[in-house]
Amino acid sequence: MKRLNVLGADIHCITLEEAILNAKEYFDGDICRMVATPNSEIIMNAMKDPEFMDILNSADMIIPDGIGLVYASKILKQPLKERVTGIDFAEGILEYLNNEGKSVFLFGSKPGIAEKAVENLSQKYPDIKFTGTYHGYYKDTEEEKIVELINEATADLLCVALGSPKQERFINKYRGRLNVKVAIGVGGSLDVWAGTLKRAPVFFQKTGLEWFYRLIQEPSRYKRMRILPLFMFKVLLKRKEAK
Ligand code: UDP
Repeated sequence: MKRLNVLGADIHCITLEEAILNAKEYFDGDICRMVATPNSEIIMNAMKDPEFMDILNSADMIIPDGIGLVYASKILKQPLKERVTGIDFAEGILEYLNNEGKSVFLFGSKPGIAEKAVENLSQKYPDIKFTGTYHGYYKDTEEEKIVELINEATADLLCVALGSPKQERFINKYRGRLNVKVAIGVGGSLDVWAGTLKRAPVFFQKTGLEWFYRLIQEPSRYKRMRILPLFMFKVLLKRKEAK
């Protein structure tokens, strides 16, 4: 798989279909594979934190979850094929796991959210076995217990919704011990599956304005999004340096 370096992050240049096809193979393996779904905000944070950048780059697949990355790739004259959102990717994998009758553990989000997500997902994917859930507001001392719970549940897929960088750090810290085939950081997806957060209508998704819709839904994200113009500026600077 071809990779494109965007300000230090080695993003895979893949379509949604290719990402799903590739991940299907992971379920036949015997190690825990990590899938990361960075957007421009996550990459900006990783630029300030080399250890986190290393964690991102150590993922088996790094999919471009953000229209900012697609624009950046065009500026860098190595266009990514398309934006692949974490939630579209996760749903593609759930479809596959449903066909195969495999199992899933949902970890993260506020208490009650993962359970509600299981309730809704079970209707859409009746053949998936949801083997466990745990909320994401735990004390550090509980982490060992959570890893044990996940391992006892023996799921094929682990969705980790702790926000970034907490979710990537968790997966990276325990990937050698996790008894799952694939672990993916899914951000706010559990809230969407639980029905407490609405995903942007297709118009916003297709026109690259999903971030704007999310900003309207969660105005407090404004502070986090302020760094995005700086991201584009850094990309422009990078291109200038490369000339
Ligand atoms: N979250 C969590 N524990 C924390 C911080 C966040 O479980 O300590 C959850 C939060 O409830 C939300 C999810 O992480 O469900 C994703 O948060 P965010 O919206 O920041 O992620 P994004 O979708 O932007 O990656």
